[in-house]
Amino acid sequence: MDYDTQNIFAKILRGEIPCQKVFEDDCVLAFRDINPKAPIHVLVIPKGSYRDYPSFCLKAPQMLVAQFFARVAQIAQDLQLDEGYRLIINTGDHGGQEVAHFHAHILGGSHVGPMVCPHKQQ
Ligand code: 5GP
Repeated sequence: MDYDTQNIFAKILRGEIPCQKVFEDDCVLAFRDINPKAPIHVLVIPKGSYRDYPSFCLKAPQMLVAQFFARVAQIAQDLQLDEGYRLIINTGDHGGQEVAHFHAHILGGSHVGPMVCPHKQQ
């Protein structure tokens, strides 16, 4: 599937809509989620045009992939989430991905609760 250049995170990257920036370098931007699900809820996005996790991990240069995940760890450390945090990467429709620009959620600041709702068998 193609990358939609009109997705909200692409607009944030282009500076067309504001964000509460936490960190930025040549390869990633990190900013606060507009609808936080934990006391600290930060989104980390690569600056390239990658729709989702597989398109990033399988198509981006491996150096960039390694750099991205190292930055995520560094940002979490800088946020002083010493008691732990959860990383979430929603992928596609079943994964609940709403914004079609690859991103990792960093959630922490208190216990973030159960990983997912229990699966209800039909
Ligand atoms: P997803 O469900 O795609 O993994 O997560 C998308 C996240 O983006 C959601 O947690 C949502 O609150 C956040 N979000 C959506 N629109 C905006 C926005 O305009 N600004 C910011 N900072 N976050 C947004």
